Amino acid sequence: YYVFILYSFTDNKFVNWRRSMLYFIGAGAGDPELLTIKGKRIIDNSDVIIYTGSLVNKELFTDIKSDAKLINSASLSLDEVLEIIFDSNEKGLSIARVHTGDPAMYGAIREQMVALDKKGIEYEVVPGVSSVFAGAAALKREFTLPGVTQTMILTRMAGRTPVPEAESIENLAKIQASMAIFLSIASIEELANKLMTSYPKDTPAAVVYKASWPDQKIIMSTLENIAGEVKNADINKTALVYVGRFLADEFELSKLYDKHFSHEYREAKDARR
Ligand code: SAH
Repeated sequence: YYVFILYSFTDNKFVNWRRSMLYFIGAGAGDPELLTIKGKRIIDNSDVIIYTGSLVNKELFTDIKSDAKLINSASLSLDEVLEIIFDSNEKGLSIARVHTGDPAMYGAIREQMVALDKKGIEYEVVPGVSSVFAGAAALKREFTLPGVTQTMILTRMAGRTPVPEAESIENLAKIQASMAIFLSIASIEELANKLMTSYPKDTPAAVVYKASWPDQKIIMSTLENIAGEVKNADINKTALVYVGRFLADEFELSKLYDKHFSHEYREAKDARR
């Protein structure tokens, strides 16, 4: 009998005929140059590309195969997406499932993975630059400042998707760490009020709208004033809210670059640890 094997340029290896691979790919925050080299190679060699609507930059798809099928999943249900995936897999077509930012943050990838597992379809994940990091780059800030905080909290307010009570904004605010809040800009006033139950009202707060896109906007303010400024700027979607003293300019110098601090790669000048 015959065993069919093919060389796949998508996977860069020999694969069984008709057993195509699916890649979940992080598109990055918006700027097409934030797509990883690996993500680009896979997208450019895929037969079927399913991307999550408005937040994925179409410029990512300028070098795809001329006969590749490009599908916007914005108007599709999970079942409809799965149907396309199953059908393409059946035909041995390689599939790229492109999610905005990094797929591990609010990407709804687990529900797809469970369905793929049931069908025995193989998949891998290629990470991406989450908007939370593109936003920090836009702000030129570091979440983890010595003497300020060494913790970053990524969260959202409860919306149609509930949030466990223990993770309410009020509870997380008690920790006084650096915080980035996704999916909540439309309720900025309520959010700021919840944060102010623990953070002082003059705590720095920032909003980054469309981080890394050409129409990116930054608002740097305080918890007390941020809601009004966001309303004035007419921002009500595709934005992250940041809060914490990491946004201010006072902190202790990093131990890593302190000349009195030895570490694995450098001997201290005057080892005073
Ligand atoms: N997986 C994505 C997040 C998807 S949830 C990531 O890692 O970035 C969608 C939310 O992400 C939006 O409501 C907004 O809060 C945030 N977001 C996505 N892209 C953004 C961008 N370019 N700038 C600011 N916020 C963004």
